[in-house]
Amino acid sequence: MDFKSKCPRCGAKAAKLGNPIIAVGKTRGLRINVFRCPECNLVFYEGFEE
Ligand SMILES: [Zn+2]
Repeated sequence: MDFKSKCPRCGAKAAKLGNPIIAVGKTRGLRINVFRCPECNLVFYEGFEE
């Protein structure tokens, strides 16, 4: 699976920083993919529930 994603601001190919799990409520976790754009330094993420 390819985790590369495009920057929503400038459309450049962003680099993946990691995929931590953030807490959603007491028992649920949401895994997110964190990206950083090398062009405009925007940091953004995509989330998906496990
Ligand atoms: Zn960008």
